Amino acid sequence: MTDEIRLSEAETYRLAHDFLTFHGLSQDQSAAMAGILTKAQRDGSLSHGLQRLPGTLETMGHPAFDREAVALVTPVTPAVVRVDAGFGFSISAALAGLPALIERARALGIAMLAVNNGFHSTALWPVVEEIAESGLVALSMNPTHDWVAPAGGTRPVLGTNPLAFAWPRAGKPPYVFDFATTAASRADIALHRQAGKAISEGWGLDPEGRPTTDPAEVLSGAMLPFGGHKGSALATMIELMAGPFIGDRTSRQSAEFDAGQNAAPCHGELIIAFDPALLSTPDDLAAAESVLDAIEDQGARLPGSRRHAERARNLRDGIPVSRALHERIRGLMEG
Ligand code: NDP
Repeated sequence: MTDEIRLSEAETYRLAHDFLTFHGLSQDQSAAMAGILTKAQRDGSLSHGLQRLPGTLETMGHPAFDREAVALVTPVTPAVVRVDAGFGFSISAALAGLPALIERARALGIAMLAVNNGFHSTALWPVVEEIAESGLVALSMNPTHDWVAPAGGTRPVLGTNPLAFAWPRAGKPPYVFDFATTAASRADIALHRQAGKAISEGWGLDPEGRPTTDPAEVLSGAMLPFGGHKGSALATMIELMAGPFIGDRTSRQSAEFDAGQNAAPCHGELIIAFDPALLSTPDDLAAAESVLDAIEDQGARLPGSRRHAERARNLRDGIPVSRALHERIRGLMEG
């Protein structure tokens, strides 16, 4: 018996959907959440795949979480749309606002979607990729909890603050990157602690603000941004733009809102869509392709390419799911 099973895309989705509805989440929110977790599992983005399902129980247990929340889409100006997630899962609200964002970006050249009061935006790439598949450029970002010290600092103030970007390509999958602005992910640091292994220098600080390679010290101290002052400034931009700018919580406020519940962060998300032809000619867009080709021609890989290869393989052979995780998810649906 191998330690993994293979599921079709429909079976993966059904497992996630059944789990969420079993635990009382509305059909709409379950569909959005199951959809995004399935995409992540299918593309081998395992940190944001089915392994997130058990943790949704802690998030749904937060006193403010609304299992019946219905996203409320409100136009603010012709170019700006706000969606209030109503303290349900953020992804459900982002998807509810997407048609208006795309329509307005096509009409105006640029449009912005502010998602408010949503729990955990999950992986950001599925939404920006969907926008790019409709021919638009997309940018997305959100704060989390204040787990990260600024470069040169000693105490946490910033979130792990992911940033995702997607650029459409004719006849090819979009160029997509999506990563946290920390030197290493929190999950990776936790895995090192579990395995009793030291982490790399530069990943974090102990509770006294001193550099350390002890993962437990970093988890109770502070993580660090990638790229020193550069990552620190990017994380700060995200904190400002997807927090106060859109009338939502900073990472510190999100952690205070959690009040020890151990739920996923509850925060805002900013999604911007641009028409790539707004200021450019077809020659300019051909030049964009030549940049991407010049990266690949020298053997470097484009972000997103591993995912797309994994997707093709998993749609052909079945999506791998760890047997232990599958059993755990099924076990949490008994009784
Ligand atoms: P990684 O450091 O693993 O970087 C992932 C990105 O970098 C992907 O776009 C990946 O492409 C690309 N990439 C990786 N290696 C290479 C390489 N050698 N050459 C070119 N491109 C490369 O990501 P993180 O661990 O920081 O984040 C993982 C996920 O966690 C993201 O989806 C992010 O949205 C999510 N996250 C969500 C948060 C939230 O609040 N919702 C908070 C923090 C993170 P590919 O996929 O093709 O490998």
